[in-house]
Amino acid sequence: MIVDFHTHTTASDGRLTPTQLLRAADERQIGALAITDHDTLSGYREAASVSNRFRVRLISGLELSSRWQKIGVHIVGLNVRADSVAMRQAERRQLTARRERAERIAHRLENIAKPGLLGRVALLADGGQIGRPHFARALVDDGVVKNTQAAFAKYLGAGKAGDIRGLWADMATVIEWISAAGGVAVLAHPAKYRLTRARLTALIEDFKSAGGHAMEVISGAQDVATTRQLARFCEDFNLLASQGSDFHQPGQRWCDLGRFPPLPAHLSSVHEYMGVRT
Ligand code: AMP
Ligand code: MN
Ligand code: MN
Ligand code: MN
Repeated sequence: MIVDFHTHTTASDGRLTPTQLLRAADERQIGALAITDHDTLSGYREAASVSNRFRVRLISGLELSSRWQKIGVHIVGLNVRADSVAMRQAERRQLTARRERAERIAHRLENIAKPGLLGRVALLADGGQIGRPHFARALVDDGVVKNTQAAFAKYLGAGKAGDIRGLWADMATVIEWISAAGGVAVLAHPAKYRLTRARLTALIEDFKSAGGHAMEVISGAQDVATTRQLARFCEDFNLLASQGSDFHQPGQRWCDLGRFPPLPAHLSSVHEYMGVRT
C-alpha cells in the first residue's frame, strides 16, 4: 500500500481540487493520503466531506509557513483536529500573514509586472491561499519571464525581492499550534533549504527541542545520498520518519502523486505510529 503524506490542492497552490486529488489517489492505489495545503485545512475539510466515495484513508493535514533564524521553514502538521481552537487560530493568523505578504510582494514587483498584479494573482488563487507560485504565473502571463522556474530564480526565490519571510510565526510557535491540535509536527523537506551540514544540524536540533516529532526523510523523487543523509539525522535525533510527494499538479515528474523511493526500513515511520499499515 502506498502512503503519501504531503500533497496540495486548489485550496493553496495545487492544481487539482480536493475531490480530483482523492480520485487520482484512488486510481493510483494510494491507501493513505494526507492533504497538506499551505496554511489552510480547507482542502482537507472539503476532501473529508466526500472521502467516503473513495478507497483512500484520508489524514488531516496542512503545511505551515514559519520562520527559523533568517529563513522560511515549512512544518507539516498531520492528524490535527481540524475543528480545534488551535487550528482555527493558526489558520486565521496565517491567512492574515499571507494577505499582507501578497500586498508587499505585489508592491515590490509592481515595476516589472503589468498593472493590477495583486488583483490578477487573487484571480489565479481563486479563493485559495495566495502563494508565490501564483505570482510566478502572473509574471509568465505578463511576459516578464519565460516560465515559473525563471520567475523564482529572478524574483521570488530565496533572497529575491518577492521572498518575504518576516510575517510568519517562528518555528517553535508553529510546532506548538500543531501539538495543541493533537497533531504530529513534521519538518518538511529538510534538504530543500540548501543549508550547510552544520546549519541543518542546528535546524533539526531546534526543531526537536521545540517539541517537533518527525521529519520528512523522503520528499518526492530524491537521490540516494540525500535519503541516506536524512535517514541518519532522523535516527540521531530520534524523530519519526515521514514520506510524501509534495504533489502540486499532474505532469511534474519529480513530485508525482505517490511516486517516491521507499523509506529506509530501519526507521520508525509516522504512518505506523498512526496505525496505518502498509
Ligand atoms: P509560498 O507558499 O507562497 O511561500 O510559496 C512556496 C511554494 O512555491 C512552494 O510550496 C512551491 O510550491 C513553490 N516553489 C518554491 N520554489 C520554487 C521553484 N524554484 N520553482 C517552482 N516553484 C517553486
Ligand atoms: Mn507549494
Ligand atoms: Mn514546502
Ligand atoms: Mn508542500
